[in-house]
Amino acid sequence: MSDELQQLRAELDRLRLLANNVPVAVAYYERAGFTCVLANRGYAQMFGFDERAVIGLTFAQVIGDDAARLIQPQVEHMLTQGRASSYERELSGADGELRYIDVHLLPHLAEHGAAIGAFVLIADITRHRRGEIALRKSEERLVKFMQASAEGIVFHLGGFITDVNPPLLNMLGYTLSQMMGRRTLDFVAPDERARVAAVIAAGSEITYDSVAVHADGRHVPVEFIVRTMEHQNTQQRMTIVRDRRDRVEAQARIHHMAHHDGLTGLPNRAAFHAHVDALIARDAAGGAGFALLFIDLDHFKRVNDSLGHTVGDALLQTVAQRVAQVLRAGDLVARFGGDEFVVVLADTANVQAVRHVAHKLLLAVGEPVEVQGTRISVTPSIGVALHPLDGHTPAELIKHADTAMYQAKAQGRAQVCFFAPPMAQAAVAALALEGRLAQALRDGEFVLHFQPQVNLQDASLVGLEALVRWQHPERGLVGPAEFLPLAESTRLMLPIGAWVMREALVHARRWAEQGLLHVPVAVNLSQLQFQHGGFVDDIARLLAELGVPGSRLELELTERMLMHDIGADMGAARATLLRLKALGVRVAVDDFGTGYSSLGHLKDLPLDRLKIDRSFIQDLPGDRGSAAIARAIIQMARSLDLGVVAEGVETQAQAKWLLSQGCADVQGFLCAAPMAAAGFEAWQRARMASALPATSG
Ligand code: C2E
Ligand code: CA
Ligand code: CA
Repeated sequence: MSDELQQLRAELDRLRLLANNVPVAVAYYERAGFTCVLANRGYAQMFGFDERAVIGLTFAQVIGDDAARLIQPQVEHMLTQGRASSYERELSGADGELRYIDVHLLPHLAEHGAAIGAFVLIADITRHRRGEIALRKSEERLVKFMQASAEGIVFHLGGFITDVNPPLLNMLGYTLSQMMGRRTLDFVAPDERARVAAVIAAGSEITYDSVAVHADGRHVPVEFIVRTMEHQNTQQRMTIVRDRRDRVEAQARIHHMAHHDGLTGLPNRAAFHAHVDALIARDAAGGAGFALLFIDLDHFKRVNDSLGHTVGDALLQTVAQRVAQVLRAGDLVARFGGDEFVVVLADTANVQAVRHVAHKLLLAVGEPVEVQGTRISVTPSIGVALHPLDGHTPAELIKHADTAMYQAKAQGRAQVCFFAPPMAQAAVAALALEGRLAQALRDGEFVLHFQPQVNLQDASLVGLEALVRWQHPERGLVGPAEFLPLAESTRLMLPIGAWVMREALVHARRWAEQGLLHVPVAVNLSQLQFQHGGFVDDIARLLAELGVPGSRLELELTERMLMHDIGADMGAARATLLRLKALGVRVAVDDFGTGYSSLGHLKDLPLDRLKIDRSFIQDLPGDRGSAAIARAIIQMARSLDLGVVAEGVETQAQAKWLLSQGCADVQGFLCAAPMAAAGFEAWQRARMASALPATSG
């Protein structure tokens, strides 16, 4: 008996084990009083009990009065009919969380057919329910989104449209019923259909540009963004359709703007470069060569300044049209901004042919223009560069055509110039300058400026250097460095030097008479003049003619000039200087320190002053090298009993240092820059009137 009991226990334990591990909650209620007789752990815990505590409780005690009342009809039905009954309900679990449960009530039928109890089986379907709810919510959201979206949206299933939102209907000009059920491809441009069909077939989720067709047949550039989505309980394809018309237009506008000049509508620099690149490539493959013309309007700025920009703009537009009219198909004109136009003549490397077209352009552009009732005419200057002769890249060709254009301007404007290679061009330029220099001398375009030399101790004027300039009618005041080297090499230096000498002495005499100048005027002497045989005689004659004593003149010779002569025939230089001495003329060594002269030689020459070169002054007082050289020059001058002047003194610090080293005479911007004659007069008068030190005025 006890064995049997033991077996029974073991079986019961196995059953309990099974009951506690099935994923459902199970309980058994007996019909009388509907009290719980059996429950697995899952069931007990679902209602907040443990397996033992739940036994003996009534249904209402386990699940709560409210729930029991609600379920009462189902229970009645199950017991009286002897049929299973099931329902779903929400359950506020013992842990406070809302759960969804699926409840099955199964009658326990006795042999006579009446229900003597009931099994309760409960499955927790919370996860499943929540998933459904989320899905339903997202579906609702999708519908809302679809309606609210400003972008077109279409759903399709197997290539047939199942849903379309109003913006897409709007974009394509259809009503909902006209689109529903139709093939998506019907709304795609014919040559796009294969690709769209391929995307649909592959089920890919991509974004791509395509073309839709409007109800009126117009093509609409669009962007498709394709996704696969659950919609109306099926996997559907959702396509967002974006209208690209604005973007395409904007892009076209930007492209045009990037490649064209806004005023004339002509291609701009970037587009032009691309075109020339293509022509160069064509020539490389056996093309005939081409010409690049740089056109610049003469005095266009004057039109703009005097008549206003509107007139200027209108003029540029007319010029653009006229140039275009002269050209043939295949040629190109671009505007580089301002009044600069550039033309390529395709397949035209023949100089005669290019000249012919260029002259046609000269005439066409030069023709007067009627703008706002005013007749204006501007001439162009045209420079030409040929490919491949004058360059191999667009930049090079443009640069050379530009150079040639300047040449055309220099030669008097309104003409055509072909680019000449640099060597030839330098020669041409030199030739032109030489011609101009001679003319400048004839026309009296040279002027002298005067720069004072001042003693820092007593602010007295100790010298005045005459410096030549060219008052160029177009270029303005041109410095000596730009034309003296050429004058020197072409012997024009002799007449120019003679003019300087006379002019300097004439001023010196007048200023002496006026009581403005009591010191000699310093004149720079060129190598050519110094070597020229009769130069001392010339000076003697000039001094006599003007009635100026020789002591009113100082000649500045560079160290190099003296060395040159010393090397060859030191006697000649010494003799020349001695003859000058005899006239009373002073001699200064200019740019001293740069000529590496042997100091031993210098002491044999009859000199008066050394001018310390500007290059040693500019880094004073900080630079130790410069300081050492300047100090050595000052000491040497003292030991040779020569005067010393520092050139290019610009700062108080430099002046102070020089003074501390015993060099009191200075020349430089600190005291005064070179001035025109009238300027010097005013400067000197002011000083004499106030008797203030030079450095403060
Ligand atoms: P240079 O004889 O050494 O003349 C001094 C130059 O230094 C002048 O330049 C003058 O303007 C400049 N200068 C004066 N003070 C300062 C300063 O404080 N700072 C700086 N940075 N520069 C200063 P410019 O007038 O251009 O003359 C250049 C050179 O041309 C002269 O150098 C001289 O060698 C030559 N030159 C000028 N006129 C004649 C002339 O009539 N005949 C000859 N043969 N040569 C001349
Ligand atoms: Ca000088
Ligand atoms: Ca100098």
